[in-house]
Amino acid sequence: MVNLEAAGLTDVGQVRTSNEDAFGYCVEEGVFALCDGMGGAAAGEVASRIAVDTLINQLCAADSHENRRKVLEEAIASANQIVHARAEREAALHGMGTTLVAVAIGGDRALVGHVGDSRCYLYRRGELSRLTHDHSLVDEQVRLGQLTQDEADHSPLRNVITRAIGTQTSVSADIAELALEPDDILLLCSDGLTKELSDDRIEAMLADDGDLDGLCGRLIDAAKAAGGHDNVTAVLAKVRTPNKSVS
Ligand code: CA
Repeated sequence: MVNLEAAGLTDVGQVRTSNEDAFGYCVEEGVFALCDGMGGAAAGEVASRIAVDTLINQLCAADSHENRRKVLEEAIASANQIVHARAEREAALHGMGTTLVAVAIGGDRALVGHVGDSRCYLYRRGELSRLTHDHSLVDEQVRLGQLTQDEADHSPLRNVITRAIGTQTSVSADIAELALEPDDILLLCSDGLTKELSDDRIEAMLADDGDLDGLCGRLIDAAKAAGGHDNVTAVLAKVRTPNKSVS
């Protein structure tokens, strides 16, 4: 397992009265999760919390010799089943759901699973790249060439997601895999960050060498200064450079 450091922060933003985002991580196990819930009253908060807790508990409990991809797929399926069952059982929670983005690291490899429009980015050698494609109406239209990115960014339908955890009896997650390198930074975030800050802006902020807690705080503050229309959450995981041996 690579040596990691991590930080995470969430904020209600400038407009909303409740925070439906949730995150969790276990740095020793290389497990990170972030969810952005939706539903009436407090239902979104319930959905995102259940999904994060299910993910973290299940991934951390898994034997390190098990197939990591299978473990991640099963944890996402469990999160879906548990949120869905709770929504069916309690009238006040009916229809609740959540996005999910999760990272599971084993050895020097990272698996990134996601459902919905919460994102995972890789920052490597000064460049930011997106590891996830939003499961959203406008992002799918951009990929099909039906909308430009600019049209998508300003569309009244930009908040419509096409997949969610908990709204159906089963869900299909996308899972990507990559080999990590020293000094890589993975950023998990909700759309409250990416709808306020461009990728270029985020890239420039990640270039600022400093502690991860401070970096998380600056990302959140920048999103709030840009409007903070939604709840905003950022989780950072950085691969530490191996200690050079002194002879
Ligand atoms: Ca959101």
